[in-house]
Amino acid sequence: MDDAAVFDPPIASCTSCGALPPAAPAQLARCGPCKSVAYCNRECQKAHWPAHKAECKVRAAALAASVAAAQRESLEKAERAMDAAERLSAAALRAAAAAGDAAAQCVLGARLRDGKGGEEEDQPAARKQLELAAAQGFAPALNHLGQIYAEGIGFAEPNAAAAAGYFERAAKLGFPFAQNSLG
Ligand SMILES: [Zn+2]
Ligand SMILES: [Zn+2]
Repeated sequence: MDDAAVFDPPIASCTSCGALPPAAPAQLARCGPCKSVAYCNRECQKAHWPAHKAECKVRAAALAASVAAAQRESLEKAERAMDAAERLSAAALRAAAAAGDAAAQCVLGARLRDGKGGEEEDQPAARKQLELAAAQGFAPALNHLGQIYAEGIGFAEPNAAAAAGYFERAAKLGFPFAQNSLG
């Protein structure tokens, strides 16, 4: 998922002085809070701040709201995909995971880790499936791996740094702050 394109439409010229960037629009620095304006440099930003200040506040709030809404929608989609994967037969789940379905990889990984749902416990295979889902930026898998490393479950030794890394990536996708237990 690439939210950058949705929330960062290109800005062609400096909002303050109107100068075109030397090369690509990417070379203009965006206003951090609102991302809706961009400048050549700190001087241009400072010069424009009195004019931009009020608008910045409003736009930053709107940006935060739309990011939160998109994250919520994406997490709900992930939840629905997990529910659907849970209902698949063991064979269909394996096929979906092999075809690259992140929710199927996440569910299969959890089953392989626990030896449940018709799967023999297989820690290396569990790790592989969960990491495949995590590599796709699938938030429930990132959170799952965070919990596994936090508690040293199955294939993992307790590793606070690894756990924090996964939790942080999940949180960036809007995943609610992780619980302490796998339940
Ligand atoms: Zn400028
Ligand atoms: Zn701004």
